[in-house]
Amino acid sequence: MILEVLQFPDPRLRETAQPIAESEVDDALRELAQNMLETMYDEPGIGLAATQVGVARRLIVMDVHWSEDGERNPLVLLNPEIVERAGKSVSRDEGCLSVPDFTADVIRAERVVARARTLDWKEVEIDASQLESFCLQHEIDHLDGKLFIDRISKLKRDLYVRRRKKQLRLEARERSSASLY
Ligand SMILES: [Zn+2]
Repeated sequence: MILEVLQFPDPRLRETAQPIAESEVDDALRELAQNMLETMYDEPGIGLAATQVGVARRLIVMDVHWSEDGERNPLVLLNPEIVERAGKSVSRDEGCLSVPDFTADVIRAERVVARARTLDWKEVEIDASQLESFCLQHEIDHLDGKLFIDRISKLKRDLYVRRRKKQLRLEARERSSASLY
């Protein structure tokens, strides 16, 4: 099932997601993870955090190497945390399914080591660099209520926020005039 992805400035994107206990891994959670993957491939994107679909729990899905011709390497991570960071690099043209019509360069750690649980409650450690590392940092930020626009200059962020608000006003106006007929 395709889920609705919350859009900035929805306040639910600012919530801190709560950890998941082993006893909570049930069919409903597995289905949520499956639906999140489906939604991510459909959008299309390379990562999605539960926060973005209105569920404030520490769950992310990722696939940084999937292709339109059917290659899939889905990753479902519960309670992911970064335990090591190294180097600095620029994540070029980073975007977010919750931040429409905007990309920016973001300075992030070049390499991270993340620890997480799988749906089978196995502990996994992921040593990631470049795109996979940027994606992990981006998704884990979502679980802490952070967006990539919090990591760019205030000037660029303000310009985007103003443009986004204007766009939302226009959309609201279109909706209200359409209902007159
Ligand atoms: Zn995002």
